[in-house]
Amino acid sequence: MVFPGHIAAGYLTALGVVTFSGIALSPNEQALLLTLGALLGDGPDVDLFYSFFKKKTTNVGALKGHRDHITHMPLLWLLIGLFVFILTVSNFGKVLGILLWLCPWSHLLCDSLFSDVGVAWLRPFSNKGFTLFKRPETFPANWKDLFLTLLKNPLFYLEIFIALVAFVIISIRNF
Ligand SMILES: [Zn+2]
Repeated sequence: MVFPGHIAAGYLTALGVVTFSGIALSPNEQALLLTLGALLGDGPDVDLFYSFFKKKTTNVGALKGHRDHITHMPLLWLLIGLFVFILTVSNFGKVLGILLWLCPWSHLLCDSLFSDVGVAWLRPFSNKGFTLFKRPETFPANWKDLFLTLLKNPLFYLEIFIALVAFVIISIRNF
């Protein structure tokens, strides 16, 4: 999954938490939490910037192996979320704690659908990656090839669908 799908999945996860957690929030707090949730949906991919920086290239090859970084470790987000949840007393802080856990997990769940190496859900105890559909490990030569590979992938259209659902919900909520 790529950027728009992750942001949309993060938003939908945050909307689910804000709506169904039963924790009272002001409209402003809700809006801020939904925005943070959307951004956290792509939180695990902050390692891309690190990869670009470290490999000194913005070529597609810099993406290779980026899922080995700590930001793709599910336990990290669970611990950060738990930490914030326990240490804060406000309703806002509690919901933020839940979002810090679940929105990045929506990302990792999406990464577990179709991937070359999958997500190592049990790290640091096991480095075995889990993925529903395994993609060949041959890596596209450039961004254009990566995009063409995506177009041939049915899950890419699922991603567009998720993004559209989020977009429609955002539009309805703001009218
Ligand atoms: Zn990712």
